[in-house]
Amino acid sequence: MNNKQTLIKQLSNILPKRQLLHELEDLKPYECDALSAYQTVPLAVALPDNITQLKEILSVCYKDNIPVVARGAGTGLSGGALPHENGLLLSLAKFKNIISIDENNFTAVVQPGVRNLAISEAAKEYGLYYAPDPSSQIACSIGGNVAENAGGVHCLKYGLTVHNIIKLKVLTIDGDELTIGCDAFDSPGYDLLALLTGSEGMLAIITEITVKLLPLPAVAKVMMISFDDIAVAGQAVSDVIGAGIIPAGLELMDNAAIKAADDFVHAGYPHDAAAILLCEIDGSIEEVEDQLKHAEQIFEASGATKIQIAKDEQQRAQFWAGRKAAFPAVGRLSPDYYCMDGTIPRHQIANVLKRITDLSNEYNQTVVNVFHAGDGNLHPLILFDANNEGELERTEELGGKILDYCVEVGGTITGEHGVGIEKINQMCGQFNSDEITQFHAIKTAFDEKQLLNPGKNIPTLQRCAEFGAMHVHHGKLPHPELERF
Ligand SMILES: Cc1cc2nc3c(=O)[nH]c(=O)nc-3n(C[C@H](O)[C@H](O)[C@H](O)COP(=O)(O)OP(=O)(O)OC[C@H]3O[C@@H](n4cnc5c(N)ncnc54)[C@H](O)[C@@H]3O)c2cc1C
Repeated sequence: MNNKQTLIKQLSNILPKRQLLHELEDLKPYECDALSAYQTVPLAVALPDNITQLKEILSVCYKDNIPVVARGAGTGLSGGALPHENGLLLSLAKFKNIISIDENNFTAVVQPGVRNLAISEAAKEYGLYYAPDPSSQIACSIGGNVAENAGGVHCLKYGLTVHNIIKLKVLTIDGDELTIGCDAFDSPGYDLLALLTGSEGMLAIITEITVKLLPLPAVAKVMMISFDDIAVAGQAVSDVIGAGIIPAGLELMDNAAIKAADDFVHAGYPHDAAAILLCEIDGSIEEVEDQLKHAEQIFEASGATKIQIAKDEQQRAQFWAGRKAAFPAVGRLSPDYYCMDGTIPRHQIANVLKRITDLSNEYNQTVVNVFHAGDGNLHPLILFDANNEGELERTEELGGKILDYCVEVGGTITGEHGVGIEKINQMCGQFNSDEITQFHAIKTAFDEKQLLNPGKNIPTLQRCAEFGAMHVHHGKLPHPELERF
C-alpha cells in the first residue's frame, strides 16, 4: 500500500465516509486558498467535527510522519492553507459552534470554524460585538483570524486579533492539549497567547478561542473626504491622528479603486477624486459630534477638496459597502490581481505611495491602492494576466520590490495577511539569520518532526542564501559556509 492508501485506511477508522475526501474531484476545491496562483492537491482532506476525531487524526499523522495543513475558510491571501502534496488537509470548518457568550464579562467562547461576523451577530442581542473586522468577515473563520492575527477597519482603534482574545485551547501535533492564556486579565509565564496568534498553523491546531467583546457604540458616523492628490490624502492620515483623533476606521482608496468599487456597488463615490479617505468616528453622541468637527478642520487644513458626512445609517452602510467590496470590484478590472500586504510607519504613506507609482510605471503594470491607512497597512493590488507568459513572475518581482521598500522605510512585509508561502523570501530580508534560527527553535519546541504546515512562514537559512537576500548585519555575511547562487 502506498502512503495515500495507508493514510486513508487509517483515517476511515476515525471518520465517517462523508468527512474524509480523497477522490481528485473532491480534493480540487481545497487545492488553494485565496492566493490561487499556488495550487497543490493534498493526499486527503479530513473534516472532523469533534475533538476526539481531531486527536486521533493528529495521532495517525504524527506516528506516520504525515504533514498536516490546517484550514479554516480558505480566505487567506498568502497561501497559508495551501495543501502539502504528501500531506493531509485538516479542515476545521465543522467546528462552528458559539459555545457561550458571557454578557457580564464581555467574552465569548467559540470554536475555530465560527465565521468572524457570526460572533458579532450573536453578541448583538446583548448590545455587544467583536471588534476585529477583516473585509472577508462574512466568510473567514475565527481560527484562521487567530492563526493570521487578522486585522480590519476597526483595528486602528480597537487592536488586532491578538488584542481581542484572552484564551486559546490548542492541540499539539504530538497530542498535548494546552490551554494558553486565561480568563483573567493577565497570566503568568511567557506570553504564549501572543506567540500562537499569527503562528499560521505552524505550532498547534487551535480548537477553542475566548474572544473579548465590546459594547456597541451609541453612535458611529463616517465621513468621506476627497483629495485631488493621493500624496496629500496620505499626509492627511498622519495629520488627523497626530491631532489626537483615533478614528474607529480610516481607509484610503485611490482613483482606480474608487471607480472600480463605485461601478460595482454604487457607493456614491466621486469618480473625479484622486483619492478618498473614509473616516469613521464612534462613541457617545457628544464625543462623536465633537471629534467630527475637529477632524473636519484638520482635513480642510490638510488640503481636502470635499468633505461629506453620511447623512444617515443607509448612506453610512453605502460608503462602507464600497470599501468592503473593493477587492472583488478590482477583480473585475483584469483577469488576475495580486494583493500585497505591507505595513509602514504612518508618516511614510505619501512617500511609499509615490514609490509604488514609480514602480508601477517602471514595470508598466497597473497598481490599485485600497488600504487600512490609519494602521499604515498597505494593500497594493497589482493587476496582471496569468495567461501571459512570465507575467506572474514579473508581478511577484514588482510586489517583492514594494515590500522591500516597506522594510527600507521601517515597516514590515506583512500587516495582516501573514507570510504563508507568498512572502517567505522577504522574511530573509526582514530578519537576520540569528533571528530566523530562533524562529526555527520555537517551531521545533512545539513540533519536533516539522509536520505542521511545513515549508511555510519561516524560511530555511539555505533558502535565504539561495534567494540572495540574507540579512547582512554590520557587513558580516552570515553563514558563509552556505552556497550562494
Ligand atoms: C476579499 C478578502 C478580503 C480580506 N480582507 C482582510 C482584512 O481586511 N484583514 C485581514 O486580516 N485579512 C483579510 N483577508 C485575508 C483572510 O481573510 C484572513 O487572513 C483570515 O484571517 C483567514 O481566515 P480563514 O478562516 O479563511 O483561514 P485560512 O485561509 O483557511 O487559513 C489561514 C491560515 O491559518 C491556519 N489555520 C486556519 N485555521 C486554523 C486552526 N484552527 N488552527 C491552526 N491554524 C489554523 C492555516 O493553516 C493558514 O496558515 C481578506 C481575504 C479576502 C479574500
